[in-house]
Parts: sequence; C-alpha cells; structure tokens
Amino acid sequence: MYEFNYHKPASLADAAKLLGADEDAKLVAGGMTLVPTLKQRLAKPSDLVDLAAIGGLKGIKEEGGGVTIGAMTRHIDVHRSDVVKRVIPALAALAGMIGDPAVRNRGTIGGSISNNDPAADYPAGLVGLGATVVTTKREIVAEDFFTGLFETALGQDEIVTAVKFPKPQAAAYQKFKNPASRYAIVGVFVAKTGSGIHVAVTGAGPCVFRVPEMEAALGKSFSADAIKDISIPDDGLNSDIHASAEYRAHLVNVMARRAVAACA
Ligand SMILES: Cc1cc2nc3c(=O)[nH]c(=O)nc-3n(C[C@H](O)[C@H](O)[C@H](O)COP(=O)(O)OP(=O)(O)OC[C@H]3O[C@@H](n4cnc5c(N)ncnc54)[C@H](O)[C@@H]3O)c2cc1C
Repeated sequence: MYEFNYHKPASLADAAKLLGADEDAKLVAGGMTLVPTLKQRLAKPSDLVDLAAIGGLKGIKEEGGGVTIGAMTRHIDVHRSDVVKRVIPALAALAGMIGDPAVRNRGTIGGSISNNDPAADYPAGLVGLGATVVTTKREIVAEDFFTGLFETALGQDEIVTAVKFPKPQAAAYQKFKNPASRYAIVGVFVAKTGSGIHVAVTGAGPCVFRVPEMEAALGKSFSADAIKDISIPDDGLNSDIHASAEYRAHLVNVMARRAVAACA
C-alpha cells in the first residue's frame, strides 16, 4: 500500500470539498474493492475520504410507489429488507447473490455502482429496473450512469447519495456465477416496467447492456420460448480464463430465458 491521507468527514459538503481538492483523492465506502486494490498497489490515491460518518447515506425507504436506497446501504441490508422484499423481490434476491457473507456485510450499493465492475450484479438491476442514481449534483438515469469498463458518468467531486428504483410489474435476476468470487460470468435482469420490457445483461461485455431484440420479442409474448432463438453476437464480449466470448454469448440466452421463467 502507498501512503495516503485519511479523512472521515461528517458531512457530504466536507466530503465533496476534500474530494475536489486533489484529483488523486478517492472515496471509500465498504472498501471491499478499493482496499484490495490499494494493497496490490494498483491505485495510489493522495487522500482517502471515508463516507462512513456521514449521516443520511444509509437506509431504505418506500417512496413514490418504489424504493429509495441510500448509497452506504450494505448488500446484506438490501437482501434482508422487508420493504425491498415486498416491493421489488428480485432486487432483494440480487443483493443476496453478491459475493460471500463478508462482502455482503461490508460492500455498499453506492460503492458497487460507482466501481462499475463489468461482472457486478447491481448494474443489471439498475438498468433492468430503470433506476435513477442520485448524486450530490444531479439525478442520472441508470443507462446514462454506466458508461464503460469501470467507468461511470460521475465527475471527480461527485458523490452517489442514493438510488431510486421504481416498482416493476414483474422482475427476476439470474446469474451464472464464477464459483470462486461469485461475480457474474453472465447475469441477466428481466423486468416488466412502466416503459416496457427491459433485458439487462452484466458480466458478458465490458459494461452492462440491454438486448433490444429480446425486449421486442418479450413485448409480443412474455415467455421464455419467445426468445429461445435470439442469439447475441459474441463480437466484443469478454473472454477470459473463466469463459470465452462465445460461451458468454450462449449464456446470455440461457440466463435470459431462466429470468423470464422466474419473473413473478
Ligand atoms: C471476494 C469478492 C467477491 C465479490 N463478489 C461480487 C459479486 O458476486 N457481485 C458483485 O456485484 N460484486 C462483488 N464484489 C464487489 C462488492 O460488491 C463490493 O462491495 C463493491 O464492488 C464495492 O463496494 P464498496 O462499498 O466496498 O466500495 P469501495 O471498495 O469502498 O469503493 C469502490 C469504488 O467506488 C467509489 N465509491 C464508493 N462509494 C461511492 C459513492 N457513494 N459515490 C461515488 N463513488 C463511490 C470508491 O472511490 C471506489 O472507487 C465482490 C468483492 C469481493 C472482494
């Protein structure tokens, strides 16, 4: 680990100020991704700004018919929340599939989406449900928030404060997980939303993406059979020791059909 200055501000305004003071300053939430990165000397922040002491960033509220989740809310709290289980059970289930108990007990929704790992689960949930990311500066629709491999629309001194999820008519998430890390080799979130059917895929490509052909087919007939012949081109998909691009392309169809069948 390289040396850095550690700060634990008590307000969002102070956190944003510290973050904006040096372009190498970084926020820390659960530390589940950042701390191993620091230990391996893959990052060299000048300052670490810990969000843990800032009030109001944690918690789950039922609002406007949907659910609003504070950025510092841990995966375990989303998984166990009675509100999330009742309003968006697929989201509670998704949170319960993240990593292992240690990861779920420290990792936060704000940290996960800001990191935008290509194999993370929440990006599929946010895009699938048509969520909105609330920051210290603005509100960003999920599809505009995730911009590329480990890239988001966040500016240097911008902090995610919450995520707003509308209630879907039905939704389900299915993932084919890496048996060691539990990250998604491919994960597919399917939702019937107020703005139509969403099919959002994580793990397969450099960034979460939707599959318009499947969405159109499901719009006509919402059944696993309706998409059985829709294949995803493997061009540009991820290929690594865990799965080839061709295998991931195949898995997108398998996971999408399972998600449609599981939609409740
Ligand atoms: C062994 C292991 C297995 C895992 N398996 C999975 C899995 O199956 N699925 C999955 O989705 N994830 C998985 N993860 C990742 C896990 O979900 C992390 O919790 C998540 O990636 C980061 O959350 P965090 O709160 O720990 O963030 P941190 O590590 O503290 O921060 C991550 C990044 O986000 C930034 N950041 C943090 N909070 C904010 C904020 N509010 N606003 C703006 N930027 C912010 C930080 O500066 C940093 O760049 C795994 C991690 C580990 C170590």
